[in-house]
Order: sequence, then C-alpha cells, then structure tokens
Amino acid sequence: MPELPDVEIMRRYMERTSLYQPISDVVRLNEDVLRNLSADRLKGTLAGSQFEQTLRHGKYLFARTNTKGWVVFHFGMTGYLEYHEEKGKTHRHTRVEFIFQNGRGLSFILQRKLGGLWLTESVAGFMEKQGLGPDALDGKLGSDELKGVAQNTGGSVKSFLMNQKRIAGIGNVYSDEILFQTGILPWTLTENIYSEGWQKLATKTREVLETAIERGADPGEMPGSYLLPHRREGDICPRCKGEISAAKISGRTAYFCTGCQS
Ligand SMILES: [Zn+2]
Repeated sequence: MPELPDVEIMRRYMERTSLYQPISDVVRLNEDVLRNLSADRLKGTLAGSQFEQTLRHGKYLFARTNTKGWVVFHFGMTGYLEYHEEKGKTHRHTRVEFIFQNGRGLSFILQRKLGGLWLTESVAGFMEKQGLGPDALDGKLGSDELKGVAQNTGGSVKSFLMNQKRIAGIGNVYSDEILFQTGILPWTLTENIYSEGWQKLATKTREVLETAIERGADPGEMPGSYLLPHRREGDICPRCKGEISAAKISGRTAYFCTGCQS
C-alpha cells in the first residue's frame, strides 16, 4: 500500500513529467473513483487548464491547476501515476486519464477501486474535512508534538503510527521499520512510552521516511541494517541474528524482533 515515501516519489514524478502542459481532455473516467464530483464536472473544470504545482500531505497528493483549485489523488492499496508519450498505451486499470495538448497523457491507475480523486479549492480545508493529522515529515513534529497527538489514543504504538487522523503518511510497512529502529515492540501502549522513547520515535520516524524516499520507496533497497529487507517471518534479524517474528495487530501483520525491541 502506498505510504508517505511512495506518494512523495509519485509527487516528484508528477512534478517532473506533467506540469505546465495544457490539458485538452480527461478520458477513461471511472466514476467509482471520483469522490465529490461527476465525470462531466471534472472534464469541464480541467479542460484547458494545466497543473502548476504539487503538494503532498500524508498519503494524499495535491496538484494545483491554474484555474480551479486542486486535484487530489489517493492511491488506496495499489494505485500509481503513469505518464506516457503515446496515445492508447495506457494501462487497463486506468481510472482517469489526463490528455495533454501535446498528445501525451497522465494515467491514474488503480487495480482495486480503493483510493480516489477529488477536486478542492483549499488544501487546508480538504485536510480538515478528512480529519488528517500533521504530516509525518512535518518539520514541526518533534517529540513533544508527537506525544501530544498520541494523547488519549489508548492503543498500541503501531496503531497510533498508522492512524492517519493522528499522524498522516505511515502505514503497515514503515511503522514496522520505525519501531524496529526505535527498539519498541509494536503492541506497546502509547501511555507506557516515556520521554526518551518519544524523542527516539520522533527522530527515527524522520530518519526512516527520509531514507525510504532517498532509496526510491523500495523496501528491498533499504540499508542492510534495516528490518525491511528482512521483513519475513523467520528471516534473520540484521542486528542480533535472531529470528524475525510476526503478529496481528489491529488487523495488520506486524514484523518485529524480540531481541532488539522491548
Ligand atoms: Zn534483532
């Protein structure tokens, strides 16, 4: 599932490929992914405009148009963007395709119809409506702020990290790595984490997400000392050479090392 690093890589990709090209049409519209608008309205709003800026908050990607606000993308479990130079070359799971006047196109591809596309006039207003917490890479998110947003969650630290309403951007994969790096077991209750733990959690959250972005959001390309290249039950822990364990937490499978995390 695309998490913050994946969406950041897609944001950079969109920025590199798709800005400042007038949109001539929006096609292959699948109404199942349009969240607050009809196909006609999306077409009518975007035809003749162009994307001029991108932003990311958590797992959401925002693209500002020069006419009417922002297009918002959410990639669900499997979604991604693909810029293509030849017409008709687009993927069969394309749910929306932006055709540029130069004949090129940007496809929004989702294999499963989770995820979605919105139009909004205000990024801040959209985030408020979705109830999103601060972005996990927000520069102002230090240990005190992190502890603050965790207050009264009353659950495990892994659920807290994955709760988009508390902190936006982290999912099942990167929460495992952050907790491995921090040395905290995933089911630890947030109320039992002390100052030093929050300090470390804030530092490691940033470090893990920035490393993932640097490495193209490919878990297999993370440093060998990280959990992610070994994130399988029974694999060898790169630190203590013990075995990686797995357990269900809040309905998701968490991977961890009982030798390195307590
Ligand atoms: Zn270990």
